[in-house]
Amino acid sequence: MEMIKLKPAYKDYLWGGTKLKDIYGMKTDLDIVAEAWELSAHPDGPATVENGSYAGKLFTEYLQGMGKAVWGKNAQHFEQFPILIKFIDAKQALSIQVHPDDEYALRVEHEYGKNEMWYIVDCEPGSFLYYGVNQNLTKEEFRAHIENDTILDVLNKVEVKKGDCFFIKSGTIHAIGAGCLICEIQQNSNSTYRVYDFDRVGVDGKPRELHIQKAVDVSQLTPSAKNGEPEGKKESFDGYSDTLLAASEYFTTNEYEVEKEVALRADETSFQSIIILHGEGKVVSEKQTLDFKMGDSIFVPAGFGDFKVIGKCSFIKTNL
Ligand SMILES: [Zn+2]
Repeated sequence: MEMIKLKPAYKDYLWGGTKLKDIYGMKTDLDIVAEAWELSAHPDGPATVENGSYAGKLFTEYLQGMGKAVWGKNAQHFEQFPILIKFIDAKQALSIQVHPDDEYALRVEHEYGKNEMWYIVDCEPGSFLYYGVNQNLTKEEFRAHIENDTILDVLNKVEVKKGDCFFIKSGTIHAIGAGCLICEIQQNSNSTYRVYDFDRVGVDGKPRELHIQKAVDVSQLTPSAKNGEPEGKKESFDGYSDTLLAASEYFTTNEYEVEKEVALRADETSFQSIIILHGEGKVVSEKQTLDFKMGDSIFVPAGFGDFKVIGKCSFIKTNL
């Protein structure tokens, strides 16, 4: 069993920028990189394995070949690999949207719902996003605001800074604002209900489809108590610090800031995904060493055992 480095799948959606190429050094012929799918077994954009016996193969092929054991015990009940992690460079704002929970999505869309988390990797001064509503609303009031084009008036607009973190529980209406570079951890699902698109048109010159009734069905119409704070406090140890960003039944995500090194472990319960935010270094075990730089994605299979992250860097670790 080995640790693998993944090359992301890139997406050149119109709203994207060039920071992932210019600052993160991602190599692609695309002019724009809106999204880099770093840990992805999604058919719309699987990552590619860079090293080891599956080098050059898709991450989906690796998972098929290795079997569910590499997901870990906590993920066995999912039919598909449960997590998708992306970098998102929003040069322009994304549409206002909401995702259903599992119960609604399984009934209506025949797939899982979607909880997601945003970590603000970087942002331009004055950048903001929309996170839930800013007042209690009835379904009728919410629908009227969508239909009258006044939905932005009742959304919670939050100015953001580096390191902010938002757990977007299913049912929370949300949108990424212009100038945000985000690492998004999400359930591997595509159920998205768009409610407002800033009156823009798509590549075909037509407005993109809205899903107003479904959005009214699933939206939580009370303000959230949290506003960009991680779930846990930053804990400092010799040579590194560890902050719990979000814990849920779908994923647990921590941010590590490393001065020298940190010892980690992938036991039988879960894989460990490492996404490098800043700096460089290496991931080392008794049998293997992988160099990394910012923007890299490393997948450590469940049951791999002990490994260390060595170097001055920060990264996000996700497991189930
Ligand atoms: Zn979303």
